Amino acid sequence: MVRVAVLDMAAAKAIGQIKKQIHIPLVADIHFDYQLALEAIRQGIDKVRINPGNIGSEEKVKAVVDACKQKKIPIRIGVNVGSLEQDLLNKYGATPKAAVLSALRHVRILEKLNFKDILISIKFSNVPQMIEAYRMLAKKVSYPLHLGVTEAGTAFMGSIKNAIGIGTLLQEGIGATMRVSLTADPIEEIATCWAILRALDLRRRGPEMISCPTCGRTQIDLIGLANKVEKELKKIKQPIKVAVMGCVVNGPGEAREADIGVAGGKGMGAIFVKGKVVRSVPENKILPELLKEIKKITK
Ligand code: SF4
Repeated sequence: MVRVAVLDMAAAKAIGQIKKQIHIPLVADIHFDYQLALEAIRQGIDKVRINPGNIGSEEKVKAVVDACKQKKIPIRIGVNVGSLEQDLLNKYGATPKAAVLSALRHVRILEKLNFKDILISIKFSNVPQMIEAYRMLAKKVSYPLHLGVTEAGTAFMGSIKNAIGIGTLLQEGIGATMRVSLTADPIEEIATCWAILRALDLRRRGPEMISCPTCGRTQIDLIGLANKVEKELKKIKQPIKVAVMGCVVNGPGEAREADIGVAGGKGMGAIFVKGKVVRSVPENKILPELLKEIKKITK
C-alpha cells in the first residue's frame, strides 16, 4: 500500500495516471480541502486519509462521506500530536488522552453520517506516549488501527523507535496496518517494516540470518563473514534460516536449528545442513561452501 500526499488539484488529478501504472492500493493524504478528496475519489483512490473535523461544514464532510460510500472506500482518521485541537491542548496538553479524545471526535462525525469504514492512526514521536495512546484507543473503539511513530528520525534511531513502538503494540494484538517513518529512502521504511514483522514471527519473507555476537572463543573473521552472508541472502526470496556462529560451544546448537549453518573453529568452519555436519572447510572456503548449500535448497 502506498500513500501519496495530495497538495493541490494537479496532484489529485494525477492519481488516475498513477493508478493505471500500479497494482497495489493507493492512499490519498489530504488536509482540509474536501475538493481534493472528492477529486482523488473520482480518480480511483483506494483510501482517503482525512480528518473530518478539519474539513469544515457538515455538507462538505457529507459530500466526502457519500463519495466514499459510493465507491466503498475507507477513510483513515490520522491524528498527529503536533496538530491537536487547541481546546484539547489547553485542557490536557499534548498527551495520549488529548490525542485519543481528538480521534474520537473525528470518529463521531463519521458515525453520525452512518459511516463506519474507518481506520485510525494516532501518532506521536515519543515512543512511550505513542504506545499509551494506541492502547487507550484500542480500548475505546473496535476500528482497525494504523500504527506509526511519527518523525522518528534517521534510519538507525528511527528504525529502533518504530520497532519498539509498533512491535510492542503488534505483540499485544493491537494494529492492522503500519507505516515506519524514517528520514531516509522509503525503501528503507519497507525493509524495517518487514524486519519488525519477521522479528515478531508475524510474517516470514525472505531468509533470516542468526549470527552470534563474537567473543574470545571466535577464531575466524565472523563479523566479516556474517556481513558477506547477509549481503548474499538479500538476493534470495525463500524463507530459509541461516546461522553464522563463531564457535563450537554454542555454535552447533544454534546452527542445527537452521536450514544451513556454520560453526567456526580455529581457522575453519563446520558446515551444517538441516542439522547435520556435512563437512569442515578452511576459513577461506566457508562463504563459497555456505552459498553452495544455500543454492541447493533454494533452487
Ligand atoms: Fe562466542 Fe561461540 Fe557464542 Fe559466538 S557462539 S559468542 S564465538 S561462545
